[in-house]
Amino acid sequence: MTAIPRTPFALLSGSAGWGIRFPEDLAEPGVRVLDRWLTFDTPWGPQGHFQVLELDGAITADGRSRTVLNVFSHGWPNDAIDNATHRRVAWVLEQAGVRKVLADSTCGSVNRMLQPADFIVARDMLDFTQTAYSAMPGRLRHQGMASQLFCPGLARTLETTARPLWPSPGRVLGHSHQIVVCHNWGPRFTSRAEARAYQMLGGDAINQSIGPEASAMREIGACFASASYVVCWEDGVVDGPAIDIDPIHHTLRHVSTRISLLAMARAELTDACGCAALRIVRAPEYASFAPGSPS
Ligand SMILES: [Zn+2]
Repeated sequence: MTAIPRTPFALLSGSAGWGIRFPEDLAEPGVRVLDRWLTFDTPWGPQGHFQVLELDGAITADGRSRTVLNVFSHGWPNDAIDNATHRRVAWVLEQAGVRKVLADSTCGSVNRMLQPADFIVARDMLDFTQTAYSAMPGRLRHQGMASQLFCPGLARTLETTARPLWPSPGRVLGHSHQIVVCHNWGPRFTSRAEARAYQMLGGDAINQSIGPEASAMREIGACFASASYVVCWEDGVVDGPAIDIDPIHHTLRHVSTRISLLAMARAELTDACGCAALRIVRAPEYASFAPGSPS
């Protein structure tokens, strides 16, 4: 099994780019693949789908070349549904020393004003399933706060990168739009009743990967941002026939994954955003077995 490379940058590729060869099909200058088809051992079994990218100093924020740990399709296996994948991926990222993580995906809208082909940078999240596969090493000595599950610094970089590249009529909606994304594991889409429920709870979009990724990145102390574009309204949100997702996906998957690459190149390695401080390590006595401890 391969040793996990050290790097502070990770890109969790998702449905945003399904069907293209990434990054080759983008032919983006200054990007090359250092290694691929990597599988790493984790405490919960092997985790594959990794590759290592190198971004040349000509395109990075600090003018120095950087490596990016990249996992295909959130790490999900090709031939099965495995919701524990996110914990294995998070563990690999923690061993790598990752501090800045971007995930790209597609999503469905439950907000009539949020339209197919819009590019969204979520500000907050509804996830009623979190901790199902927690990456946190125990409940007693660790706390994960959620006042900003999505890094404002990384979100700004992402929005600034997307704005000149994203094609109309789609819009780029950053943190100022306060978009709330709901996690729903899938793989099936929401029913009309579920979409209505998420709408009533304040959700704007539905995503099948964002919940465990946002929580796990908080648990390993890394900054996290989500780059996603809307491919449909969920059933029952608007009148009319269902939208064919694939043409939207085919039109936007190249530009979306290009934005992901450039955002990783432009991400600044700083803790000024405050995300890392939201993972709190508590005093050792919290984890002592008090009734049986010597006084
Ligand atoms: Zn941050």
